[in-house]
Amino acid sequence: MQSLRDREKLIAWDKDYLWHPFTQMRDWLADEPIIIERGEGVYLIDIDGNRYLDGIASMWTNVHGHNHPELNAALKAQLDRIAHSTLLGYSNIPAIQLAQKLVEITPSGLNKVFYSDNGSTAVEVALKMAYQYWQHKGQPQRNLFVHFDKAYHGDTVGAMSVGGIESFHSTFSSLLFKSIRLSAPEAYRTSKAADTSRNASTDSAKTYWLNAVERVLSENTKQIAGIILEPLIQGAGGMLISPKGFLKELAALAKKWETLLIVDEVMTGLGRTGKMWACEHENVTPDLLCTAKGLAAGYLPLAATLTTDEIYNAFLGEYRDLKTFFHGHTFTGNPLACAVALENIAIFERENLLDRLQITVKHFNKRLQEFYALPHVGDVRVCGMAAGIELMKNPETNTPYPFEEKVGIRICKAALAQGAILRPLVNTIVLMPPLQISISELDSLLDITYRAISEVTG
Ligand SMILES: *Cc1c(COP(=O)(O)O)cnc(C)c1O
Repeated sequence: MQSLRDREKLIAWDKDYLWHPFTQMRDWLADEPIIIERGEGVYLIDIDGNRYLDGIASMWTNVHGHNHPELNAALKAQLDRIAHSTLLGYSNIPAIQLAQKLVEITPSGLNKVFYSDNGSTAVEVALKMAYQYWQHKGQPQRNLFVHFDKAYHGDTVGAMSVGGIESFHSTFSSLLFKSIRLSAPEAYRTSKAADTSRNASTDSAKTYWLNAVERVLSENTKQIAGIILEPLIQGAGGMLISPKGFLKELAALAKKWETLLIVDEVMTGLGRTGKMWACEHENVTPDLLCTAKGLAAGYLPLAATLTTDEIYNAFLGEYRDLKTFFHGHTFTGNPLACAVALENIAIFERENLLDRLQITVKHFNKRLQEFYALPHVGDVRVCGMAAGIELMKNPETNTPYPFEEKVGIRICKAALAQGAILRPLVNTIVLMPPLQISISELDSLLDITYRAISEVTG
């Protein structure tokens, strides 16, 4: 940072002109903001030169680290050709190449790629495609989506309509379209008292939730356009892990009752769960798959909705038939973002990242178990390189901390002072580092988190 004056000016302008997302701005204004100026690998560096471990991969997006030479080079090379041209009526090279690559690396059967800019729009596209598909199939009455409690699919109105986080969505409830919400398929959320063998109840839990799904599907067979879920782990709802096999059996139910399965891989895609896609863990090919966050390696906003030939073909017809999918965002298929995404995937392949990642995943999982030694850690949930550590006032009785106590926020502040950037989900501390984090960097992140939790909760 050049001078003290610049520093003071930036802070003043931030407070004067910026409205931050998901932020109570009164609290924000009372604090000094951290202003990031640079990134180096898994570190973020602020305007004062302080270095922080990026414990949440810059909102779950970063894959190979910041300021990555090969990603930078791919971006610069594309920039020297063109920054943007439209996919409406024309095409561009990186968008074509990335579509081919995505079809190659996603579960077989997903053969068509529709681009948009972010996770919410990828979900909107999936919902509208599913809805319109049924119109073309002569079943226009299918206008209901089944979704889960604690689900998070984005903040636009359609995505909120299939969301299940009370604090985010209830304000807007009268704006949302009608849908069917089922309780969240959580497996391991158990109090210390209630369950000595933490994973023992998985099978009965799975049966319970699948029965609920089947009941709804059987009672509303001709009304349901699709089922949408976050596979294996519900992220923003609190890092909630689904029972093993839930996804696979849910997919079978969708098939049996002839409705569409929409899998939101916005968080889980691009290696986050230890495989390229969460669907691969259970050999599932959904009818629609949404990807965003890590797609362009955390560099640029880019999203895609992939679908099958069956759905794509239903939209084919004469121009006058109006079977066209009338949807598209201005920056759809942006060449810069697509070029970075191509390099992102190329790095996975060149470096055999998914194989190497298994060691990191194992280490992460093992070290996270140590957190149970802390008296207020009620539950530790982990799926690949995504984890949630839930704090409870009394883990023995499953009593949460009242949200006004801001335990999660206070722990993240303590971690910041020790050099790690985190962001909580209420009383759950999220750890979601870039996939390329080294074992020693991961150890530092876990050590800082451990100390921050014990500092705040004793
Ligand atoms: C973040 C997220 C979204 C929304 O993505 P945005 O890019 O913020 O619109 C949707 N679904 C899941 C599972 C997410 O984690």
